[in-house]
Amino acid sequence: MGIFSKSEKMLSLEDLLHHELRDLYSAESQLIEALPKMEESANDPALKQAFHMHLEETRGQRERLVQIGKILNIDMDGEKCDAMAGLVKEGQEIIKSKSSPEVRDAGLIGAAQRVEHYEIAGYGTANNFARQLGLTEVSSLLSATEDEEKMADEKLNNLAKGGINEKAKNTVRDKI
Ligand code: ZN
Ligand code: FE
Ligand code: FE
Ligand code: FE
Repeated sequence: MGIFSKSEKMLSLEDLLHHELRDLYSAESQLIEALPKMEESANDPALKQAFHMHLEETRGQRERLVQIGKILNIDMDGEKCDAMAGLVKEGQEIIKSKSSPEVRDAGLIGAAQRVEHYEIAGYGTANNFARQLGLTEVSSLLSATEDEEKMADEKLNNLAKGGINEKAKNTVRDKI
């Protein structure tokens, strides 16, 4: 969905792939803005570092999409990923909430994992279309990002289960 959604041409699988790629480009661009705020809001040093590392990865992911745009000779601008705007907004609710640092960390992980799952779905879909169309180079670029998103999700899951959720549980409520 986006500002051109009503007039956008989608008559072929190529058109649909281009639409998906622009949506992902918008999603990654929004995350480049959002991840520094999540890093800043995080308390746990390993979580801070995970957000910092994924910001660097995200810049590379957007660059891959620019590269794909050149291969396919398409403009990457003109689309807004409304879903990512919503997910980022939900993350901001956690950041702005009156919360203990430990509970906020657990909430930030939940928000970030939603983002990763959305990206995994988007890249998986685009990659299936690219493969179907025989676009090998595009497909391998999409696979590289898809793998990074899956690793980021797994890392967040490990942080949550490896101590952050337990610390959140042990937070005294009236400390705030
Ligand atoms: Zn940083
Ligand atoms: Fe990404
Ligand atoms: Fe989207
Ligand atoms: Fe990601």
